[in-house]
Amino acid sequence: MNASGLSPEQVKLQARARELAAGPVTARAAEVDRTEQYPWDNVDLLKDAKLIGMTIPTQYGGQGKGWLDAVLAIEALSAACAVTGRIAVETNMGAISAVMAYGSEEQKKMAADMVLAGDKPAICITEPDAGSDANGMTTRADKKGNRYVINGRKHWITGGGVSRLHLIFAKVYDEKGNEEGIGGFLAIRNETKGLKITKREPTMGLRGIPEAVIDFEDMDVPPSALVIPPRGLKKGFADLMTAYNSQRVGAATVALGIAEGAYRLALDWSEKREQFGRPINEFQGLQWKLADMSIKLSAARALVYNAARSGEGGFPDMLMAAQAKVFTSENAIQVVNDALQFFGARGYSRELPLERMARDVRMFTIGGGTAEVLRNVVAGALLKKKLPQTRDGWVRD
Ligand SMILES: Cc1cc2nc3c(=O)[nH]c(=O)nc-3n(C[C@H](O)[C@H](O)[C@H](O)COP(=O)(O)OP(=O)(O)OC[C@H]3O[C@@H](n4cnc5c(N)ncnc54)[C@H](O)[C@@H]3O)c2cc1C
Repeated sequence: MNASGLSPEQVKLQARARELAAGPVTARAAEVDRTEQYPWDNVDLLKDAKLIGMTIPTQYGGQGKGWLDAVLAIEALSAACAVTGRIAVETNMGAISAVMAYGSEEQKKMAADMVLAGDKPAICITEPDAGSDANGMTTRADKKGNRYVINGRKHWITGGGVSRLHLIFAKVYDEKGNEEGIGGFLAIRNETKGLKITKREPTMGLRGIPEAVIDFEDMDVPPSALVIPPRGLKKGFADLMTAYNSQRVGAATVALGIAEGAYRLALDWSEKREQFGRPINEFQGLQWKLADMSIKLSAARALVYNAARSGEGGFPDMLMAAQAKVFTSENAIQVVNDALQFFGARGYSRELPLERMARDVRMFTIGGGTAEVLRNVVAGALLKKKLPQTRDGWVRD
């Protein structure tokens, strides 16, 4: 163990990811943003460096590594290119981890093979009229004979149009039309008929990964497409959402990585840039800014690493994951904004990465649960109550 509590293997892993980040990933980052093209070449690099599917158990071809291992890789990559960091999140956490925890043998094998071959699975929850209120989703899966027929619309689905494997959440109805709960169904783009990518969102940042509207039009799947956690369909959504705690830690890590990258650029520039005949880091106004930035980053890193460690043998703790995501996403925005300020006019130029980092980092208080809704999660955990958000009174679990 070293000072940050990392094992020698983890230090090596971190070094490998940092080397990749500093070399080819940095070299491509601006182009990925400008062209808005998914960086398939970086996917190959991640695959070769064994940074994809790390958390998949060894019996399915993965490395059986922990969340912190994935976090170390994501943090290093995101400092260079947030899009590549996000690919590392979604090939180690989120949908793939839900399937590996709760899927059938057949589902696990299929999902593991696809991810290890370079597919970044998509997780489809959000709808135009059901965002923070995911339980209000209207996408439905109707049981018809020995099939489910799925209809509805999801939007802001990361990877829509590049991902093949999709984990789609829908309200499940039996043959008589009775609601049975929210289920997660697996479908494969270009194989499962009725799954249609109908729009790409024009995003502010993170432009190398498409965010898409996906329509399900009489999408017909067998019951074997349904991922059913041990507590069954009714409570299954809550179980599947525990897998989402890993995704939240991953999202916090990308924000942390972007902010670290921006901070390092500012620190370096503060030594090189001279005004009034001295390096700008001799001005106390900027020294204190650097100090505050480093304090925020150290605190965020501790929250993220601890949340990742809390998931050993399962999924990260909900409270710790929410705390880490709220704190890191909000502070990362400030750190990147401060870093940009160090560069004066240059920081505002598209020739430097700061403006891209400022656009990229802005997402993380929104996607994967907004900072407001995650504060509700934190408060609910502290008060040991389910805090209802609807007008019809207190609901207790
Ligand atoms: C880049 C990006 C990628 C995404 N990727 C995916 C994906 O892959 N899959 C997927 O399913 N979704 C994805 N999302 C969607 C994301 O999860 C939702 O945007 C998020 O849950 C918020 O929903 P909403 O946008 O509808 O906002 P709304 O729910 O409409 O919220 C609007 C505002 O009201 C606030 N608010 C709402 N309810 C409460 C409350 N109870 N208390 C306090 N404040 C509240 C919110 O915090 C927010 O500020 C992505 C979003 C982005 C931006």
